[in-house]
Amino acid sequence: MRFRDRLYQFMQGRYGPDQFTYFLMGTYVVLTLLSMFLRFPVVYAVLNVLSYAAAIYMLFRMFSRNIYKRQAENQMFLRFWAPFGRFFSLQKRRVKEGKTSRFYCCPKCRQIIRVPKGKGKIQITCPKCRNSFIKKT
Ligand SMILES: [Zn+2]
Repeated sequence: MRFRDRLYQFMQGRYGPDQFTYFLMGTYVVLTLLSMFLRFPVVYAVLNVLSYAAAIYMLFRMFSRNIYKRQAENQMFLRFWAPFGRFFSLQKRRVKEGKTSRFYCCPKCRQIIRVPKGKGKIQITCPKCRNSFIKKT
């Protein structure tokens, strides 16, 4: 049997990767890199244990047969991650369109609103919840 077929057979009925998997992978990489720079023995040991824990948990989830439970975990992770994800996507847009636009977050519903730059003080109305607020652009 070819390796690919064997791998396919092995993964049958197992959960596989999801967003939480990628987060754990990222955690592992970041902690490993940090532990290389922080040479204090105690910090180094703690970071190492945490990074291995993240890696083992990641592998355990991928090969798990309890798909229902893994999906529930991923849903929990996505709820926890949502505000960070929003923050990162806002930063990305700020870098990309920052020369011509400014970005504000609606204080009421957290919707991200893009307004043209250099118009002075303007009243912004949120397209989602109609809440309006004044900002300098
Ligand atoms: Zn709003």
